[in-house]
Amino acid sequence: MKTHKHAFNIILTVLFLIFAQLGAQKKFVIVLDAGHGGSDVGATRKYENIGLVQEKDVTLGIVLKLGRMLEKNKDYKIIYTRKIDEYPSLADRTDLANRSHADLFISVHCNASTKSTPYGTETYVQGPDQNKTNLEVAKRENDVIFLDDKDRERFASYDPTSPESLIALRIQQSKYLESSLIFGGYVEENFVKKDKRYSRGVMQKNLHVLRLNAMPSVLIETGFISNAEEAAYLASDKGQDEIAESIYDAITSYKKRIDRNQKKIVEEPKELPLKNDFRILLMSTPNKYVVGDPALKGLNYILTIKENGLYKYYYSVTNFASIKENNLKTAKDAGFRNATAVSFIPNQDMNTGYYRLEVYTGKDKLPSSSPILKLLKDVERVKANGIFYYTYGNVKSLEAATKLQKDLEEKGITNTTIEKVYK
Ligand SMILES: [Zn+2]
Repeated sequence: MKTHKHAFNIILTVLFLIFAQLGAQKKFVIVLDAGHGGSDVGATRKYENIGLVQEKDVTLGIVLKLGRMLEKNKDYKIIYTRKIDEYPSLADRTDLANRSHADLFISVHCNASTKSTPYGTETYVQGPDQNKTNLEVAKRENDVIFLDDKDRERFASYDPTSPESLIALRIQQSKYLESSLIFGGYVEENFVKKDKRYSRGVMQKNLHVLRLNAMPSVLIETGFISNAEEAAYLASDKGQDEIAESIYDAITSYKKRIDRNQKKIVEEPKELPLKNDFRILLMSTPNKYVVGDPALKGLNYILTIKENGLYKYYYSVTNFASIKENNLKTAKDAGFRNATAVSFIPNQDMNTGYYRLEVYTGKDKLPSSSPILKLLKDVERVKANGIFYYTYGNVKSLEAATKLQKDLEEKGITNTTIEKVYK
């Protein structure tokens, strides 16, 4: 009996922990942005039958209706850029969205044309060019707000000026773009299927209000104020209700899709490390380059190994398959079209042969006052094709060689190259 009771207590505790976890689950934060406001009226037209129709009133009407629907659901947290007739600046709207770590940003607008005939709905996502602007801003401000925790782990050695960091940002940005396109698709589909309206589609455009958002973002043009029939619909309670409901349903579908994907991620087994290390071979050349040489195209974390007179440049190291693929892509994106992943057995001693360090190469002999000759014993010197090669050390594994290299660096002897010597 006693053990049963103990087991029961454990079950209770586990259940409590599970529910506590569920309760603590992060809310899905949505920023609702009613376009224009205050002295900025947006598009406006006066009709004989319905009077003045102003974009700022229509957008606020739709957003308040949508907000009321969403607030009934405890999974959502709603943030409004405005709830009254005022004008928050575009920067204020973006800042608010980024500060609140929103999951979705929805800006509601109305269209207008110089002609009275055009009608229908459009949803915009940020244009491809703005990705570049985002990258530039992130680079300049040394900012990592675009990286989620997983990406940040991967690119822990974040250096905003290195191309691999920009690629990391680009990956993150394209994630937002993809999500924005999916959500925009749901919105337009609902306008057509539920409300029997005409959709002009989901489009990419460079719009300031979407530009610096670090989250999936859309701008919905809910209809043309310049079209008499649509203006009446936009100004009516029925029209605004239908539009709000269609956006609401799109949010529900989008959230479901995200939850499904997240469940999949949780259920996916954790990636196991591989037995071998993988480095990306960038190139094999008789030319010797040091860190920062343009030939290395800005890539960091380069390991150079000299073998049979050729310098082999390897980029980064990992024992995870997914990161290996990522590194390979980074190398190719940086311009090393023929880059390949090379497997290294960790801590493997060479049977015949050894590793040493090339500590200096040059047309002139090192003077006896050189720190290299003063600090190191048993430095060997050979001359080939008019070049003096100075080498030092004799170790059996690559790991021992990189350690030796670090030891020398601490002594102030930098830019040494590991050389693999076969006997
Ligand atoms: Zn507008």
